[in-house]
Amino acid sequence: MKMSNVLNDGNVIVEAKVNRVNGTPKSSILHRHIHHDPITVKAASGNYLELSDGRKVLDATGGAAVSCLGHGNQRVREAIARQMGEVSYCHSLFFGTTAGEALGKELINGTGGRMARAFIVSSGSEAMEAAMKLARQYFLELSPSQPARTNFIARKESYHGTTLGALSVGGHVTRRKIYEPMLLGNTSLVSACNAYRGQLKGESTEGYVARLAKELEDEFLRLGPETVCAFVAEPIVGAALGCVPAIPGYFKAMKGVCDKYSALLILDEVMSGMGRCGTLHAWEQEGIVPHIQTIGKGLGGGYAPVAGLLIGHRVLNTLDKGTGAFAHGQTYQGHPIACAAALEVQRIIREENLVENVSRMGTLMSSMLKQRLDAHPHVGNIRGKGLFWGIEFVRDKETKEPFDPSLGIAMRVHQKGIDPPYNISIYPGSGTVDGKSGDHVLISPAYNVTEADIRLIVDTTARVIEDFFAEF
Ligand code: PMP
Repeated sequence: MKMSNVLNDGNVIVEAKVNRVNGTPKSSILHRHIHHDPITVKAASGNYLELSDGRKVLDATGGAAVSCLGHGNQRVREAIARQMGEVSYCHSLFFGTTAGEALGKELINGTGGRMARAFIVSSGSEAMEAAMKLARQYFLELSPSQPARTNFIARKESYHGTTLGALSVGGHVTRRKIYEPMLLGNTSLVSACNAYRGQLKGESTEGYVARLAKELEDEFLRLGPETVCAFVAEPIVGAALGCVPAIPGYFKAMKGVCDKYSALLILDEVMSGMGRCGTLHAWEQEGIVPHIQTIGKGLGGGYAPVAGLLIGHRVLNTLDKGTGAFAHGQTYQGHPIACAAALEVQRIIREENLVENVSRMGTLMSSMLKQRLDAHPHVGNIRGKGLFWGIEFVRDKETKEPFDPSLGIAMRVHQKGIDPPYNISIYPGSGTVDGKSGDHVLISPAYNVTEADIRLIVDTTARVIEDFFAEF
């Protein structure tokens, strides 16, 4: 790829330009890139994708932190087939299903009863839309005479989904950019917690937390606290930054600000939740419980398009005393096949103690990654939790200067990994926060990985990165 061929317009456009060299496409499906026929995956099992050219690619990220049990799990396949034989679809407005009911119970039990109800949809973006609408409805039913709470405060370094509402509370620059004029006007963005880039030299953990809490409170005051519906945040920033966890005390302080002004806290655990970070829910490690939580990828492990909300008692009780109905309905809400798949995935995670394995293997993976890559001149930061780790690349390690996003460094590292002799899939992200963060890759293998799998993933990833920069 010649640099002069690259548009200086964020990673989406850069990737499209890079892929244009593939020539006339044969695909009749619109994939992300019009001039690109993606490599066909003809089979998948365990941690491997088998490609149409016969190569086996190690799936070190389960897609985008999705395939938490790996591919082709026999129990999940059987559960889906059983559900197909029983009931494949009915409308959730009129009917419930055994699978939906059992999934709800499983999910609520998994919170130790700290959340009250589950609501099941088909994607993380839909879950975020539903969370925002539920928050608005909560305040209307709580006190119809109050001034309308319609404002959402979210964070600059974040991603919450691709639909217009979810995109409005996200700060992922390249994914928002061309839709900016269509986004909601009632959202504002404050800084996320990013110790590597946001914490000042010599600033204590407490000092950094206090500064971010003040920034949030100032935004409440600027908007008028009585107009703020909710603060929206990812416990670990996924696609926008590359697995950046908050520092200790951050979420307690943010919840404190929300509580002070009676606003809701919506935690987006679509990527970081359902065991991915070493506890079933990321909030368990923060000492708080959100009012509404979204879940997604690890819920169904990729076996069905499924995501959802976990709704706290305060919100549910208010609706219960009010209209008694959530004013939001979708055709595929609570889809029986999706519920049966998610239920089996969640049962396997619980019965096989996989969250504990995530924690143990995560500790091993993080120490191996740091040992191997910390000293690399273009690796700025390695961070994450559980089996959810990000490696941030920088042009200059000393100044933390990122690469120009138009170079598409992360995408090119990903492409190098897919190619022989490496044959590994790692998840890339570039230019996500207006040139103020580096390119990154994510590593998020299945929850049931072994020590040998981790060694192979770390060694192959490290070789890809070392070789890429050696040739760069
Ligand atoms: N929230 C977060 C934190 C995500 O990472 C994503 C997807 N990457 C979404 C929401 C949107 O989920 P989906 O792509 O399933 O709509």
